Amino acid sequence: MLRVCPKCGIPKPVDDYYANVKKCKVCCITATRAYYKNNMAACRKAGKARYQRNKEKQKKAALDRYYLLKAIDPLLILGQTSEQQSRRRRLRQVVDARREAQKRNAPLNDFTAAQWLEVQEAQEHRCYYCGKRSKGHLTQDHLTPLSQGGSHTLHNVIACCRSCNSRKGTHPPLIPVQPLLLTISKSRMPECGP
Ligand SMILES: [Zn+2]
Ligand SMILES: [Zn+2]
Repeated sequence: MLRVCPKCGIPKPVDDYYANVKKCKVCCITATRAYYKNNMAACRKAGKARYQRNKEKQKKAALDRYYLLKAIDPLLILGQTSEQQSRRRRLRQVVDARREAQKRNAPLNDFTAAQWLEVQEAQEHRCYYCGKRSKGHLTQDHLTPLSQGGSHTLHNVIACCRSCNSRKGTHPPLIPVQPLLLTISKSRMPECGP
């Protein structure tokens, strides 16, 4: 399915568009860069102001993340090997998702790093919606969105690729069941915890 970009007039696949934006990604990026170049002073000033506004919030977020990670694995905080770094990156995704669910008052918020790994393995590291394999780059998606009162818990989380996640509005779940629940037995379910 190709869509014609109103700016450059080139027909492009849907993946080349951001959700709810008419222009294609290339045109969006070109426009943003041009705007920045022409308004550099104003952009820098706005950026600095934004930084000052968000400084405290970001400091707190970094600290929250630090303590959550430390609780999971105290040695991981200091580890500098590439394996430790990639593990930290993976855990950050899990920790950030929890913080997001907390902000949105999810009724249940107990999805663990171990469960996230199992979900991806159960889906063979493929996107739940389009089936594309994308090991290490899948994103978490909620069958019942957090905005509709969904929980951040095993039975409501599936793995999907970035592009399917960003245009999920047009992608209702094919089967409203979290596939992992069908493939692993209760006894193998990881304990709840951070
Ligand atoms: Zn375009
Ligand atoms: Zn996908």
